[in-house]
Amino acid sequence: MSVLQVDMLLLLFCFSEKGVKKLSIREISRKTSAKLSEVKKSLKKLEEDGYVTVSKDECSLTEEGTQSVLSYFETEKRLYWSILEKDKFMMELREWTKSKDELIRDLLNEERTLMTHSKWDNIFLVARRWNSYTPALPAIESLGFGGGYFLAWNGKGLVIDPGYNFLRILRECTNKELGLVDIDGILITHDHPDHTAGLEDILTLIREENRIRKHHLDLFCNIGALYKFEYRITKLSRYITCYPLRPGTTLDLSEKYNFTIHATPAFHKETWGESKYSIGTIFDLHKKCRIGITSDTRWHQDLISAYLGTDLLVMHLGTLEAKNSALPNHLGSLGAYLLLKHVHPKLSLVSEFGEELKGQGRYMIGKFLSRIFSKKSMICKVLPADIGLTIKLPSLDVYCQTCNAFHAFQSIDFKEFGDEIKYVHLKGKL
Ligand SMILES: [Zn+2]
Ligand SMILES: [Zn+2]
Repeated sequence: MSVLQVDMLLLLFCFSEKGVKKLSIREISRKTSAKLSEVKKSLKKLEEDGYVTVSKDECSLTEEGTQSVLSYFETEKRLYWSILEKDKFMMELREWTKSKDELIRDLLNEERTLMTHSKWDNIFLVARRWNSYTPALPAIESLGFGGGYFLAWNGKGLVIDPGYNFLRILRECTNKELGLVDIDGILITHDHPDHTAGLEDILTLIREENRIRKHHLDLFCNIGALYKFEYRITKLSRYITCYPLRPGTTLDLSEKYNFTIHATPAFHKETWGESKYSIGTIFDLHKKCRIGITSDTRWHQDLISAYLGTDLLVMHLGTLEAKNSALPNHLGSLGAYLLLKHVHPKLSLVSEFGEELKGQGRYMIGKFLSRIFSKKSMICKVLPADIGLTIKLPSLDVYCQTCNAFHAFQSIDFKEFGDEIKYVHLKGKL
């Protein structure tokens, strides 16, 4: 058989694989870059040998032609493997590299530390720095950290709004003691990428992990994020149980998580969903502690009643006020001030800062609010949130990054070191 004849047989085989039985002779000429007359001549010979049937301007493979192509593939495959086996370079390369399965096994086979490591159980961990677009396109000379939060309670781990690089940040800020294996559930408040970018990483890795061992995931998801990830969630339904959350939804998760989730209203325009679907959250740790997370929202009177009675309140600031008016999509420092004034939680974290506040911005806002709310009439501890801030539950003791121990939150101060905020225990202030 000539090269042209082999080409034609393979071409016809590929088309018959796709369910197309006949191929026009002109098409063969175009795809094999051979003249029409040459194609016709070759086809005639192939027809005589019983490989193809030709009718008018079309032709198709016979059973014998199909078998001939299959045996061609078999021969080539055997030839390739024999080259591969004999070639010293490939053998050496194989010795030096791990198989993909081995590599994934190594990466995923971390031991779960939540039950065994006292530091990480019963904590609220901030694994988050900047919001919105800049972690996707970091500002100059910035690592552009995004991230999310991690709530560990009674040996179960829940991720809240995993944004850009969440898993990397979680692993790094816990000395690789917390990771994928410690995640039992994920809660998403709205569909913006700084709250969902890390979800895709986690879902992909969970899929890989389930090839090795069982890892089930609970996904507590607002409606906008459900629209956004619908296809993936459906595809992974064997490993994922999905709980839709709307403003007002209450989920009693006592049996598995020993807490209740309340979805609070948020007033924040989503990308795929609508502003009516965005939520904040309250975690009710069974009368021991109530944690409120506003997530992204503009200021609204209803936020006061939603978060009254919270012990720890995490507020998402967004950016600075627009001139002479409140922000249309975020709390801003005015909204944070109003919320603290009316809700007065014991401890509040100001979080979700735009990278434009880099430098002294977060530190100054934190100090400003701390000063206002340190007066006796409305005492409330305020800390700007940054990667590594770890709060013990239900006591709300804060981990001091200097003496490496938890201390009463009233005795914790914060300092700024370049891009980072560190939390330190002020000795003697208790
Ligand atoms: Zn956000
Ligand atoms: Zn948002």
